[in-house]
Amino acid sequence: MISVNEAWNIIVRQLPVKKITEVSLLESLDSTLAEDVFSDLDLPPFDKSAMDGYALRAADIKNAPVELEIIEVVSAGQVPVKAVKPGKTIKIMTGAPIPQGADTVVRIEDTEAVKNNTVRVLATIKKGANIAYQAEELKEGAKVLSKDTFLRSQEIGVLASVGKQRLKIYQKPTVAIISTGDELVEINVKPQPAQIRNSNSYTTAGQIAKMGLNYELLGIARDNLSDLTEKISRGLQFDILVLTGGVSVGEFDLVEQVLKKLGVKLFFDQVAIKPGKPFVFGKKEDHLVFALPGNPVSSFVITEVFIRPAVSMISGNPSLVKPKIFAKITEPFQKITNRQQYVPAVFEQQTFSITPVHWHGSADLVSVTHANALLIIPPNITPLKQDDQAEVMLLE
Ligand code: AMP
Ligand code: MG
Repeated sequence: MISVNEAWNIIVRQLPVKKITEVSLLESLDSTLAEDVFSDLDLPPFDKSAMDGYALRAADIKNAPVELEIIEVVSAGQVPVKAVKPGKTIKIMTGAPIPQGADTVVRIEDTEAVKNNTVRVLATIKKGANIAYQAEELKEGAKVLSKDTFLRSQEIGVLASVGKQRLKIYQKPTVAIISTGDELVEINVKPQPAQIRNSNSYTTAGQIAKMGLNYELLGIARDNLSDLTEKISRGLQFDILVLTGGVSVGEFDLVEQVLKKLGVKLFFDQVAIKPGKPFVFGKKEDHLVFALPGNPVSSFVITEVFIRPAVSMISGNPSLVKPKIFAKITEPFQKITNRQQYVPAVFEQQTFSITPVHWHGSADLVSVTHANALLIIPPNITPLKQDDQAEVMLLE
């Protein structure tokens, strides 16, 4: 049995080289840029007014209040026709080009109207005020965004400004999800004695969707070699195959055997984690296989602890990694084991405290609906007393 850290280090070393794809600008939101992007123009492209006001010569308002003659009005999108000469001004709107001869803009609020074509400037102001100069944000040809930048809406806007309509991003991995078990029925069926509904496929699909990935549900594979072989073969067409169930030591736990037969190299099949010990990780060519234990909380935890950070690295999306913090535990925690525990718990922001939910073990997904965090208890530590600090992984 290997430790959580050893398991993670093995997974990291097996992550495939990122694939690159080209998409349109809006499709690239929440992806990671796979190329450097350079500007095709200066930003701003011309000297422009940052305010609604009056374009003038700073020298003319040294002895403000002064009156200036308004010789033209320019709005955004217009090019001024006249030049500003001593004693004159051009009324200018935000975003309009600065006229020839003007070196400063005075805000409308700092003036008052005198007559139709005369304005009084009330106070003097620094030369160059309220002008956004050509290329002050960015020079033509300069690098706007570097390869490996995660694209949020502000990056999308910047790419729009430089006319980038299509761009290269890292392709998000495709995911197949298979549940295994003879006892499972689909959710539209009322279970007969000894049957249970397949909930894992839906929990896992929800977790995968939250990572921004597309997935396909390949349904339930029965605990026999032919059905498992058929479904797993299909699942291996995807970048990531997630299986649940059939990886314990039971008589009908055949998943490992089938994976091997299909040419999947297995790296480990047990991790010192609770819940989730019988966790199998393998790879065939560039296709990763995560075969999780069938108990609903086990598969939920393994997906958060291992699959999520792996997807974060493959798709270059650092925001997928859930924050870890330390918080004060509100009750003693006695049940220390030789495995690292991830206990469904409630983190309370106001008191920065953590309280384990009372649950009935790794089958009890209902209790997890009350949790918003996982309390992390390292292996073989001394039991925690009330108010001790404990590590917490926030789920939302
Ligand atoms: P296994 O890992 O196949 O031994 O399954 C462990 C436990 O998890 C058993 O009680 C199964 O019935 C249950 N289980 C397995 N697969 C699922 C599933 N897809 N949905 C809900 N429970 C499951
Ligand atoms: Mg089973």
